[in-house]
Amino acid sequence: IERTLSIIKPDATKRNLTGKIIAKFEEAGLRVIAQKRIHLTKAQAGTFYVVHKERPFYDELCEFMASEPVVVQVLEGEGAISKNREVMGATNPADAAEGTVRAEFAESVGENSVHGSDAPETAAEEISYFFSGLELV
Ligand code: ATP
Ligand code: MG
Repeated sequence: IERTLSIIKPDATKRNLTGKIIAKFEEAGLRVIAQKRIHLTKAQAGTFYVVHKERPFYDELCEFMASEPVVVQVLEGEGAISKNREVMGATNPADAAEGTVRAEFAESVGENSVHGSDAPETAAEEISYFFSGLELV
């Protein structure tokens, strides 16, 4: 059984959409096995998104991720990484399939409501960035 790291981003927590987004994960068969609300510093957001540090939107992305609290969570299920990304929809909400989180809730390609790990290696790294083994139940 697979695990993935999910973040409900500031645009979504600000609009009180946490529950609606979690409901979509649960309906898809993903289980929340760890969760907390935290307010990232810009430096912490920068470390999390360091793979994007050469991209033109990096600074804006870090500012955004530190602008309001986020909800970080570990989702578990069969094929959790790809299932979560299916539920999330395309990065740009204009391209996201109907019924996906980003189609319904995202405001723009940057303020796109959710993050999900993209591979088993990054999932393991991202989970350990936010959670200790004792917190995964
Ligand atoms: P995430 O990694 O957050 O799950 P993703 O894998 O769909 O999203 P990435 O290409 O990894 O997309 O980009 C990471 C994040 O950077 C995006 O979710 C979005 O918030 C932001 N981003 C990506 N492309 C742009 C862009 N062209 N302009 C502004 N922000 C962007
Ligand atoms: Mg990504």
